[in-house]
Amino acid sequence: MRTVTELQKIRCACARCRVRSLLGPILLIAAGVIFLLAEFTRFSFGDLWPLLLIVIGVVLFAESMASREGHTGA
Ligand SMILES: [Zn+2]
Repeated sequence: MRTVTELQKIRCACARCRVRSLLGPILLIAAGVIFLLAEFTRFSFGDLWPLLLIVIGVVLFAESMASREGHTGA
C-alpha cells in the first residue's frame, strides 16, 4: 500500500502534466515582463496585453504536443 499513498502525494510527472503546471508561473512572469515593458518603453499595457494570449496559446500548444507517457491521472 506504500506505493498508493506515494502516488497520491506526488503529482503526475508525465511531460504533459509538467507543462501544464508551468502555465501559472509562466503567466505571472509574462505579466511581470509586460508591466516592466509598459513602465520603461513607449508601449502601454493596452498595447502589450495580447502577449498574454500568445503566452497562454504557446503553453497550451506545448501541452498538447507533450507526451502522456507515464500519466497517472493524479
Ligand atoms: Zn500526467
